[in-house]
Amino acid sequence: MDKCSFCGRDKRETNLLIAGISGHICDMCVEQAYEIVQEEGKKSHPFDMNSIKLIKPKEIKKFLDLYVIGQEEAKKIISVAVYNHYKRLMQANRKDAEEVEIEKSNIILVGETGTGKTLLARTIAKLLHVPFTIVDATVLTEAGYVGEDIESILSRLLQVADYNVAAAEKGIVFIDEIDKIARKGDNPSITRDVSGEGVQQGLLKLLEGSVVNVPPQGGRKHPDQKMIPVDTRNILFICGGAFEGIERKIAQRLNTTVVGYNAARRTDIIDRNNLMQYIAPQDLRAYGMIPEIIGRLPMLTYLHPLDRKALRSILTEPKNAIIKQYVKLFELDGIKLSFDEETLDYIVDKAIEFKLGARGLRSICEAVMIDAMFELPSSNENEINITCDYAKSKIEKVNMQRLKVA
Ligand code: ADP
Repeated sequence: MDKCSFCGRDKRETNLLIAGISGHICDMCVEQAYEIVQEEGKKSHPFDMNSIKLIKPKEIKKFLDLYVIGQEEAKKIISVAVYNHYKRLMQANRKDAEEVEIEKSNIILVGETGTGKTLLARTIAKLLHVPFTIVDATVLTEAGYVGEDIESILSRLLQVADYNVAAAEKGIVFIDEIDKIARKGDNPSITRDVSGEGVQQGLLKLLEGSVVNVPPQGGRKHPDQKMIPVDTRNILFICGGAFEGIERKIAQRLNTTVVGYNAARRTDIIDRNNLMQYIAPQDLRAYGMIPEIIGRLPMLTYLHPLDRKALRSILTEPKNAIIKQYVKLFELDGIKLSFDEETLDYIVDKAIEFKLGARGLRSICEAVMIDAMFELPSSNENEINITCDYAKSKIEKVNMQRLKVA
């Protein structure tokens, strides 16, 4: 008679006896073992600082290269900032921390929507062993107004850190759409600027490092709620924003600075088609960010608009490129999927023609592939090649405006 090799019960005394290579285990022992695994798992917290491996900036960038096309400068700056962040955290644990205190360098990324700001942040998160969260600045308002309090930014961080405050205090927060809290208009005293300067003042407290009381569930604070104090001194903030129209501010500044004896020479070297590369802290100020906030975001970098070549690469090159995903999806059905080169060029052309950007690539591909994805799993086909004519016939049927992504 077979017996459980752990508790010794024989088969009749168990509901289920599972056979292994050289023994058996009963259902009760499986349950008990599961509980032990769970308990042990809790003991070694995933955000244990002692288990952190320091990854050099070049290695971080190499990892970003796998997922993000182009944007070399932004990738370099983020790699260095994250590396320094880790070094600071390690130094904070050491005795000589008092001697030279390394200050943190929060980052601000400026670039059109759909150029990879969030993607950069998400990719960095994959690599890291510190709590990481993405929050949207558009929902934030001053205390006392409709919307979420600034402190709710940290509620999310606490949640991903499993309410381990020490871990959250070393985390990274990506604040998206930071430009939406720029001061509107030049005179804030005429109307109350609920989602502008007041929010920036609130945010300043988080950025410069202080102990703030965080509502554990997020949203708005209310009097009966118990708050969790969180020290933000070691939290790295990465802010991103499109800053639509900031090129005008940059152009204005460049024009005023070129007045002088060497004006002619200076204007020669300015690339008017890509003014974003000249972005400087003054431009953020002209856009409505308060100087104190800009001072707390010392790493300012930009993302390039995506050109045809970049879009074409995005379609096939990243580790999780859209085309690779379709090939995998079909492979799971035992179907070999391929695309003609012209088909891929055509998809990129359509994205450019209708100004759909990188986000639009996916919706165009969906429109091309939907019929094949519907039909093929029930057919006997084991191979399909998507020709340009096939793609055209599918695209002509859809209203391209519908593919616009907000
Ligand atoms: P943003 O935050 O700048 O508005 P996202 O990072 O959300 O833009 O980009 C939207 C999508 O477009 C991404 O999920 C990704 O699929 C694609 N994408 C954008 N930029 C790039 C890039 N540089 N490399 C690879 N994919 C990109």
